[in-house]
Amino acid sequence: MRPTNTERRAQLDAAAIAADARESPAGRAPAVGSTVAGAAPGGRTEDSRPARAAAGSAAGSGPLGLYIHIPFCARKCPYCDFNTYARLEPLYEAYTQALCRELGRWAARLDGRTVHTVFMGGGTPTVLKSGQLAQILALVQERFTLAADAEISSEANPGIEDWGQFSLLRSLGVNRLSMGVQSFQAEELAFLGRIHDADDALRAFDAAVKAGFTNINLDFMFGLPRQPLEAWIDTLDKALALAPRHVSLYSLIVEPDTPLAHWVETGQTAAPDDDAASEMYEIAISRLGAAGYDQYEVSNWTRGDGYTCRHNLLYWRNQEWIGVGPGAHSHLRYPIRLQGEASPDFAFLSGEDFHGSTGGCSAAAAVRWSNRKGVQGYMKRVESEASPVDFHEALTGEVSMGETMMLGLRLVREGVAFARFAEMHGQTMQAAFGPILDRLQDAGLLASDGERVRLTSRGLFLGNRVFSEFIA
Ligand code: SF4
Repeated sequence: MRPTNTERRAQLDAAAIAADARESPAGRAPAVGSTVAGAAPGGRTEDSRPARAAAGSAAGSGPLGLYIHIPFCARKCPYCDFNTYARLEPLYEAYTQALCRELGRWAARLDGRTVHTVFMGGGTPTVLKSGQLAQILALVQERFTLAADAEISSEANPGIEDWGQFSLLRSLGVNRLSMGVQSFQAEELAFLGRIHDADDALRAFDAAVKAGFTNINLDFMFGLPRQPLEAWIDTLDKALALAPRHVSLYSLIVEPDTPLAHWVETGQTAAPDDDAASEMYEIAISRLGAAGYDQYEVSNWTRGDGYTCRHNLLYWRNQEWIGVGPGAHSHLRYPIRLQGEASPDFAFLSGEDFHGSTGGCSAAAAVRWSNRKGVQGYMKRVESEASPVDFHEALTGEVSMGETMMLGLRLVREGVAFARFAEMHGQTMQAAFGPILDRLQDAGLLASDGERVRLTSRGLFLGNRVFSEFIA
């Protein structure tokens, strides 16, 4: 398996990775079934008020993440199908006000529940003006109950050369910066339509360090059409020379309805070569490992302890998050504790309209929903006090268990612990998936040490086959 930009989108915009993989909504390329093999948050103690709904489960009391979507970019990259738009500068101010309004509503609904991670992504948050960023982040700090050691991440594009934004973000509590560098090769950056060159990326990294960021992630892409191996190795070497604490590597996927898809369909560019991409992935695993980086997830590496992306870990551990902004997804597990969950806008959270049909399970284990995707439609809804939610679904116990496996097995070392699975789902992994586990272990794709199950080295390269086994 090699990581894809589809996965990146799923992680960064809080889209439902599991939903993508299971049913590929809206034409999204699924993580499962694609053609290629493709520290628990700590901090202030979780608030101790009793759950407002039924008790008896860890649901609703684990770590909670907050995703904030900034749907703007200076220019749209031709491969990108994220929910983000260029040339909408006239909307920035009104969008900031609408976003803050939705954030304020969520602060009230969460009623003091501790938020452990905040991720401001998009899009390119740093295209916003300083005052707009300050308003959003000040609201987060003032209205939400953040864990004392909350991870607060922001994405940044090295092409937005307003380095003052980095100092501002740092002063507003942002303690993790994630930069989309993508490549250190001029030709590749031009092909990808990036607004920066390699020197910009070096200057941006330096500026981020000078602004006080110690926890910096750099994103890179590989598997570009006709990308020479030497060019990929050179990019990796230059990345390693910077010694960032976190590195994310994604292979280029041709997403439908993008300019890149059109170029491939019309023969203007070659399609990415899966075999070449797998070789690049293998090289990356080897080089980063030799440089002391720990691969903790299929597409993510850290140098040193304490630098995993705790927000993304919430997704991979099938935990809980609230997404704010157009197209943002949310996922909560039952029992749900929210002020006002009985309001008409969020009646679906009660699960009363849910009729389980999978495997005889009649109780919803979790619920996910997403906001209206279009920026102006989202703003209109929020401004008129209407709900921005456009889609919701309750997840059966069976579906939720499958997602715990599919997502958790992406965590290369952690895998899925038997005890945690049983605590989350009220039944053992063996009871839920015994024959599948046996079959995958016999095939050499999964291994168990008695405490947890995880991918083997072979399984890492055939991950999509493994994950698909757990999805009904
Ligand atoms: S900068 Fe990132 S989010 Fe924006 S268009 Fe390019 S890839 Fe998409």
